Amino acid sequence: MMLIFLGPPGAGKGTQAKRIEEKHGLRQLSTGDMLRAARAAGTPVGLEAKTSMDRGDLVPDHLVIGVVEERIADPDCARGVIFDGFPRNVVQAEALDAMLARAGRKLDAVIEIRVDEAALVARQATRVQETLRAGGKVRDDDKPDVLRHRLAVYHRETAPLIAYYKGRGILKTVDGMASIDSVTATIAKLLDR
Ligand code: ADP
Repeated sequence: MMLIFLGPPGAGKGTQAKRIEEKHGLRQLSTGDMLRAARAAGTPVGLEAKTSMDRGDLVPDHLVIGVVEERIADPDCARGVIFDGFPRNVVQAEALDAMLARAGRKLDAVIEIRVDEAALVARQATRVQETLRAGGKVRDDDKPDVLRHRLAVYHRETAPLIAYYKGRGILKTVDGMASIDSVTATIAKLLDR
């Protein structure tokens, strides 16, 4: 099964993907995590991604597309994948179609996790405060200014994918403001159909 989880930063894509992957034997692929790992390892991809990531901009398409195509060929992706944070624009979506076609696979569903963004920004600001008060470290791109910028990028670049996949009849929308458990249950039900 090949799935995409779509939604703005902070919508809970990663949390839900982790829960669904265990249940359905899929592999969650977070391009954000993959890029952060590349940065930590100091690879050429990581170095090239750094500036865009720190600003909250998308990293260049060719970097992400290359990383994803290599990764989905790994044996642990054979049963299926949940794309979390990819594709982020139409160029990436078309590249995904092409690479899946080359691999003889196809997308089964796109799960849009819809949230109230004002509530989301407020929730995130509280979380940052709490983390700082507890002496923890906050990811630079989770700080309020950068998060606001990432939301703007989401609207400009990523939100058009909702119509892109709706037009193909594979979009399913869930209410991401419900409790974590109930969002998981709704997604699981959609997938069992
Ligand atoms: P979140 O899940 O909080 O939205 P991610 O971890 O997915 O954040 O992404 C963090 C950053 O990594 C993004 O702001 C962007 O710079 C980069 N990134 C992740 N995935 C992609 C992608 N598919 N295309 C371009 N940039 C990406």
